Amino acid sequence: MDRLFDQRRYLIPFRSSLLPQIFTDTLVIGAGVAGLRAAISAAEHGEVIVLSKGDLKSTNTAWAQGGIAAVLGKDDSTESHVQDTLVAGAGLCEEDAVREVIENGPARLRELMGWGMRLDKNSEGELAVGREGGHSASRIVHTDGDATGRELQRCLSEKVRKTHGVRLFENCFALDLITPGSEPGSPVMGAITHHPKHGLQMIWAKATILASGGAGVLYRETTNPPQATADGLAMAYRAGASVADMAFVQFHPTTLYLPGAARWLITEAVRGEGAKLLDSSEHRFMLDVHPLAELAPRDVVSRAIVRQIAKQASAAGGSHVWLDCRSIRGFHDRFPGMTALLRKFDLDPAEDLIPVHPAAHYMVGGVMTDLSGRSDVPGLYAIGESAALGLHGANRLASNSLLEGLVMGEIAGRTCAEMKQAGSSSRPAGWSVARPAPVSVVSDIRPSDQGELDLDDVRSSLRSAMWKNVGIERSGGKLRDVCDMLDFWARYTLDKIFDEPAGWEVQNLLLVGALVAHSAAWREESRGCHTRIDYPDSMPELAVHDCRRRGHGAVSTVPLRHAAGVRPRGALV
Ligand SMILES: Cc1cc2nc3c(=O)[nH]c(=O)nc-3n(C[C@H](O)[C@H](O)[C@H](O)COP(=O)(O)OP(=O)(O)OC[C@H]3O[C@@H](n4cnc5c(N)ncnc54)[C@H](O)[C@@H]3O)c2cc1C
Repeated sequence: MDRLFDQRRYLIPFRSSLLPQIFTDTLVIGAGVAGLRAAISAAEHGEVIVLSKGDLKSTNTAWAQGGIAAVLGKDDSTESHVQDTLVAGAGLCEEDAVREVIENGPARLRELMGWGMRLDKNSEGELAVGREGGHSASRIVHTDGDATGRELQRCLSEKVRKTHGVRLFENCFALDLITPGSEPGSPVMGAITHHPKHGLQMIWAKATILASGGAGVLYRETTNPPQATADGLAMAYRAGASVADMAFVQFHPTTLYLPGAARWLITEAVRGEGAKLLDSSEHRFMLDVHPLAELAPRDVVSRAIVRQIAKQASAAGGSHVWLDCRSIRGFHDRFPGMTALLRKFDLDPAEDLIPVHPAAHYMVGGVMTDLSGRSDVPGLYAIGESAALGLHGANRLASNSLLEGLVMGEIAGRTCAEMKQAGSSSRPAGWSVARPAPVSVVSDIRPSDQGELDLDDVRSSLRSAMWKNVGIERSGGKLRDVCDMLDFWARYTLDKIFDEPAGWEVQNLLLVGALVAHSAAWREESRGCHTRIDYPDSMPELAVHDCRRRGHGAVSTVPLRHAAGVRPRGALV
């Protein structure tokens, strides 16, 4: 796997010093909940540039439905939310991260409402709170039933546009992070970007915050929008940052399964309101699987569905199970977005069963950070879905990720602003905005002939291989096969020079797919959302983070902070 894991930089066939140079204090890569929230805080002291590779609506954030988990009511408590998160995380959460995010959640929500975010209210005029799987209390706030993400994205985008000192670069693709040398651990000093109109540009920054979202596109079946191609994870790895816990990919149990239609997520809140899962004989099979039936943790429900589909396939054929929402009163009012979508396919949830199937949903692993969002590379922060903060452990509790983006966005942005105010930075000595250090954006890999490469074919083959071999149920044999296969594909894909995002995305997907597959092969146990059929139990000695870092051998393990007795605010994990 050397070729995949030792890849350094994209080879840019010209001198970076000839490119346009842009300077800022903080560069935020990503304009979802985490990036936008970070930009607002960072702009309190200093200039900020925010990149989004599509428009501002093309984010996982904008697609979120169910809502934001936060302790708001008197019948709920911080401790209960903490315990639910720890249980879902299956022994791999960092408790200090869990407490940091959950304790700060209510303040971040109140702030959002102050900025004009609309949230649904109940008949008494109080915030309406829903319940989702794994939560022991109703604590999920939402907007227009199932359009929370859209409203959150709108609110934060408007706030950012009005924030002095923030420049938004839409449709601007970050190719790679700028480092003064190619040794792992060299400080990050911004990013090289590509804009369809302006071409390649160097953006120099004193601090760079990765908020580039998840990796759902790695899988043939995914709830994520097409932009979720793991670019940030790949860039951070190439720059020498540690990435951790990559085996943990959460699969959502219920996405609409209609050939030709996108895999629209059917929010867990629908099951929270009483929807049942039925097999092809209309038997409610979750009753045989878990005491919480349809509200069991997501990994349990996803596994039960794929096993049920396999049974059906061997009996009478079948590619999905059914979601029965017919008993939910007022479905149309509670879930107007879902109702409108189903109507397009001539389905009425009050009368029809809905075909559903699991799909890759959330990347739990990511760039390893401390409680301020700092990675182990100077100058580089990571927040939101691209980070591994330790909040989610081995499995994410529903609706905790928008919360994480809000809280960690504020913390990381504030940390950068405070650094700027104090006049300190993580820049290397001698770095000057007026005189950028010479940077050669080079690769260790010698370019092959350009040749013809069918990018669509590489992309779809990778997604199918990940779905079949690194999906909901995994085994050592299949994982080893896919690792070898990705290594082979890397030989003729990573040394090609591309001049557009489609090629760079495929290279990023290939690298991150390999990181996921290797982590899953290494983790010889089942834990949280990682299921090995050849190792069905959790192993106490594997309650550690598995980390990979370019140039540092195959894998290293990091003990949980609380297990090691460390209280690391501000220190690297
Ligand atoms: C269908 C769906 C429903 C969900 N429902 C919920 C829910 O109800 N509650 C909940 O808590 N979570 C939910 N989630 C998860 C949640 O939406 C995400 O985890 C969260 O929004 C991630 O936010 P983020 O800011 O980290 O990334 P995103 O919102 O994904 O933003 C990523 C940003 O990075 C940019 N970017 C990426 N690569 C590059 C690049 N190379 N160059 C420049 N820019 C780049 C993108 O353009 C985008 O602006 C849901 C997810 C999906 C897909």
